Amino acid sequence: MTTPAFLLTPGPLTISARTKQSMLRDWGSWDSDFNAITARLREGLLAIVHGEGTHECVPMQGSGTFSVEAAIGTLVPRVEGHVLVPSNGAYCQRIAKICKVLGRKVTTIDYAEDAQVRAEDVDRALQQDPSITHVALVHCETSTGILNPLHDIALVVARHGKGLIIDAMSSFGAIEIDARKTPFDAVVAASGKCLEGPPGMGFVIVRREPLQRSEGNAHSLAMDLYDQWVYMNRTTQWRFTPPTHIVAAFDAALAQYVEEGGLAARGARYAQNCRELIDGLAALGLKSFLRPEIQAPIIVTFHAPTNPRYAFKPFYEAVKARGYILYPGKLTTLETFRVGCMGQLGPRGMGGAVEAVGEVLRELELSTVPA
Ligand SMILES: *Cc1c(COP(=O)(O)O)cnc(C)c1O
Repeated sequence: MTTPAFLLTPGPLTISARTKQSMLRDWGSWDSDFNAITARLREGLLAIVHGEGTHECVPMQGSGTFSVEAAIGTLVPRVEGHVLVPSNGAYCQRIAKICKVLGRKVTTIDYAEDAQVRAEDVDRALQQDPSITHVALVHCETSTGILNPLHDIALVVARHGKGLIIDAMSSFGAIEIDARKTPFDAVVAASGKCLEGPPGMGFVIVRREPLQRSEGNAHSLAMDLYDQWVYMNRTTQWRFTPPTHIVAAFDAALAQYVEEGGLAARGARYAQNCRELIDGLAALGLKSFLRPEIQAPIIVTFHAPTNPRYAFKPFYEAVKARGYILYPGKLTTLETFRVGCMGQLGPRGMGGAVEAVGEVLRELELSTVPA
């Protein structure tokens, strides 16, 4: 096997050797040792948002989208439910699409991809349409890397007495969400992002009261968070086959997260990666897409080199040959590429990636700055 490249992508990302090692064992899904891992994991995840005593952590099989869909389907009533989605990127659009597929009424507030959601706009929309029951907000919009002002929006939603469902997939564990200060009904995230586990399971941190009220809302048997929660509390087991190796590895990743220093340390490491990346590529003539004030330290969108010789694929292949996997852009009109700040980047860290991009720009004669 060749040495695998570091993943500079928004999940899956490069996980530690210790986390990989923890998957070299089989577990019985009914076994008490395994169920103790599930219980510990649920507690640990809840503690990250300080939700002990007020919220419940309900794990769900599948990728992150499965948990977003489960949260909407379980918490938003089928008949009278109406979801407001402030939308500034592809993951916001995905939530609106989930609502449509599930037959939940949805209204969007549409923004440009480089504009933050504004709490005033949410306030006005809730004032104008009292039939809205929930707001679904993406915390860090991974399609660009923009950070939305969660806390201010949460206060507005709470003031109107509506439910807030947060897609915190790419922020959970690295950017603060504190249930004691920021009111929400549900926060959705997954194993394979900032907590640096392998992909394969998601989880929803739900406030007890709306969770208790959600019985019978779900359109789906497998995606019913209420049922998963009740069954898990009664039996300590997952309702259907759990992703055992992923659960064990996620538990190991969470232990390392705590050892590293939790949210403060994880957030600081990503912020350092992000600065090194933006400064390093700027020196090579590559500009980032977002203003620094609204850039989350998770993933960065860069304008592609302006040289007409540029195409993403050969650029990507050449950087990959130097040990780093980049990510394509997701903007509708501009030619861009993305670089993630998450994961275990090895001893050379982000500096190694910046160096690789510099070498490739010279090799492919794409450089816009003199050598
Ligand atoms: C990764 C991500 C998801 C989930 O994507 P999956 O491919 O289903 O894991 C949802 N929302 C955001 C903001 C994400 O970054």
